[in-house]
Amino acid sequence: MRRSAMRVISRNDLFLLFGLTIALFAMVSQPLGDILDYARAIDEDSGLELVPGLVILAVVFMFHQFRKRHESRALALTSAAEVRQATARAAEMERLVNFGRGLGESLDHASIGTVAAEHLPTLAEGRGAWAFVLSGTAWRPLAVVADRSVAECEIAARHALGDAVAGAAVPSDVCFPMVVGGQPVGVIGVASHPPVTEHERIVLSAAAALLGGALKNAELFEVVHENSVRDALTGCFNRQHALEVIDAELRRARRSKLPLALIMFDLDHFKEVNDRYGHLCGDEVLSAVGQRMKTVLRGSDLKCRWGGEEFLVLLPDTDPPGAERVAEILRHDLEEHPVKWHVADIHVADISVTASFGLTLIVPGETDATAIITRADAALYRAKEAGRNRVCVADGRQITG
Ligand code: GH3
Ligand code: MG
Ligand code: MG
Repeated sequence: MRRSAMRVISRNDLFLLFGLTIALFAMVSQPLGDILDYARAIDEDSGLELVPGLVILAVVFMFHQFRKRHESRALALTSAAEVRQATARAAEMERLVNFGRGLGESLDHASIGTVAAEHLPTLAEGRGAWAFVLSGTAWRPLAVVADRSVAECEIAARHALGDAVAGAAVPSDVCFPMVVGGQPVGVIGVASHPPVTEHERIVLSAAAALLGGALKNAELFEVVHENSVRDALTGCFNRQHALEVIDAELRRARRSKLPLALIMFDLDHFKEVNDRYGHLCGDEVLSAVGQRMKTVLRGSDLKCRWGGEEFLVLLPDTDPPGAERVAEILRHDLEEHPVKWHVADIHVADISVTASFGLTLIVPGETDATAIITRADAALYRAKEAGRNRVCVADGRQITG
């Protein structure tokens, strides 16, 4: 309403008005002179002051016009500033949305780190920025796009969450803790120069909330995925996942022409352990076997709990003598590590663990996983028949005993 009233007389209108006034003055200067003379005559006859009154009116009108023009200019400047601010807010919102979208497509820490490295400097308006993640009590860098060493960022992150950093100089970076469900999961840091404005703090706090949520989601996704492919008792892969990995390894071996081997083993007289000490003890033995496999075998070897107390081990890039050595080492290791079990809080029993092993070598190009497993199973059966606690090879040989 106020604005539309201001616009009744615009700048251009004033020029027009001025021009019209001059033209009018030129046209009516003679009659105006006559009017002034007449007014003066009236002034003298009546004792009124018409001429000064008219002059005052004209001055007031001009002052009024000047003030209106000044006001409308100030209003235009305010509007332009508001438009600029709204444009900046829209751009910030778009940057946050893009950040959130990038995070939404990232399900693991590595890709979240890539998204953070790409977006954090923009969200920090070009300042140096970094993000550190806290898992348990361990800190690790997620993204560092700043003139800071990783160690300096870690000191700032620890300090931001009240973690003692005795003796270390704390960088002046402005820190934004990432907190999910009341638990700190990391910190975003931004260079403190130029000073971070109140509004930028709001944007960066929102970015910290988004990043924290994405990190927590990735962690949960990892847990769910692990649970779906691993057996909780032994830490080995479950049967279904093992079959997928075996298929993938067979295809890889066909391409690489590298040798592969498969071991199947079964604990000896395991039923007796359950019968004598109970199922909890049996579970403890299975868990210990999983631990021994982890200790003895390579990280790249596939360890699978095939059934109750039956296990599969796939040895990629392993030649026949190497595979026989691995089977024998594992057999010996289990035999050498009896499991300690507290019997009714009275004494500790040493539960002896032995297993019978079937080993088969895989010819590069072989793709039938079922046929390979059946071969290993038949060799394992022969090991049981031959007296247990030994390794038999699918080609008919027996390695132990
Ligand atoms: P063998 O030397 O011929 O293999 O004898 P064994 O006693 O090991 O074989 P058997 O197949 O008769 O028994 C296997 C036992 O494993 C029976 C089953 O109760 C036990 N078992 C299977 N899964 C689990 C498990 O998750 N926990 C426990 N405690 N026992 C299990
Ligand atoms: Mg058994
Ligand atoms: Mg069995």
